[in-house]
Amino acid sequence: MNRGLTAEIDLNAVSHNLKVIKDIARNLPVIAVVKADAYGHGAVKISGRLINDGVEYLAVAFTGEARELRDSGINAPILVLFDPDAEDIFKYGLVPVIGDKKTADALSKEAERRNTALNVHLKIDTGMGRLGFAGDPVKEILEIAGMRGINVEGVMSHFSEADIKDESFARMQIASFDSVRKELLQKGLQIRLFHIANSAAVESLHESNFDAVRPGIMLYGYSPVLTSNLQLIPVMTVKAKILTIRRLPAGAPISYGRTFITKRESLIGVMAAGYADGLSRRLSNNAEVIVRGKRVPVVGRVCMDLTMIDLTDIGHVEAGDEAVIIGRQGNESIDADELARRADTIPYEILTSIGYRAKKVYY
Ligand SMILES: *Cc1c(COP(=O)(O)O)cnc(C)c1O
Repeated sequence: MNRGLTAEIDLNAVSHNLKVIKDIARNLPVIAVVKADAYGHGAVKISGRLINDGVEYLAVAFTGEARELRDSGINAPILVLFDPDAEDIFKYGLVPVIGDKKTADALSKEAERRNTALNVHLKIDTGMGRLGFAGDPVKEILEIAGMRGINVEGVMSHFSEADIKDESFARMQIASFDSVRKELLQKGLQIRLFHIANSAAVESLHESNFDAVRPGIMLYGYSPVLTSNLQLIPVMTVKAKILTIRRLPAGAPISYGRTFITKRESLIGVMAAGYADGLSRRLSNNAEVIVRGKRVPVVGRVCMDLTMIDLTDIGHVEAGDEAVIIGRQGNESIDADELARRADTIPYEILTSIGYRAKKVYY
């Protein structure tokens, strides 16, 4: 989609962030989460770089996302977290995550019909309350492991907090995951990959790392841990063009609802980006962008396609200049964490909603 925003994607930053993850996870296999178009960064390009850097597994949410990767020539194993569509799974050689017996049954029958064996990962609900075996997971897993055409390559679970603020609950989840793991191993099941660690757990709960780690947001340069001191590099820089600059007198209302009135003669820039580009309307009168190395405020409501900024204080500026919405310019920088705080959300939502729609440029 070619709208107002350009997202510059720094693939070297992805490599750097992967190395940070590998270092703290002591070189365990990384199942790189590239769902939602790699959190808005472009799944094909990001996956290509990650595989080049030795990542052995990718994870997406839906088979449609995996299909896009296969169509672009990516042959690495792909875990499909949420959508075990049998036809796509076999057609594209994907590894489904299964959390109920009915799905396992259907896939087993299909594998038999095709005279093949399917690798699957099974999911245990240890407290997320979303998907997975809850009652007696060992019994369910043993039954599925006995199905024809099914090879249980992995068993996984998911933390109920992306930032793991409450470590006691996360530790309970780890303990319950580990007890299932021990029981399965005791019963002689050969399962290669037990995994539960999202980004926050990679960083702060090393005992959760087991056979592989499953980070997402960290690859893109953000830590969900508030007190993080990891040297991650944000991968995405987001810029908008300033279409027009207008000189308005004091007392001029700006944008829908007249929520901003100029207090002085003002230079108001009109930026080619709005909520249709993923710039939340909650940033109305409540964000800054960087123009010519200086921070300037968003004034008035964010519109569908346009957003106004107050350029009065920055000296020389021209129509056609760029405004940095996420990124660094001069001594200033704005990251997705800042926008998330202002919009009362999380950087995941900022990156996916802006990145998804922006024209992407890779370097
Ligand atoms: C999205 C997701 C992840 C990655 O989470 P981050 O917090 O981005 O590291 C891992 N596992 C599952 C099941 C997910 O849905």
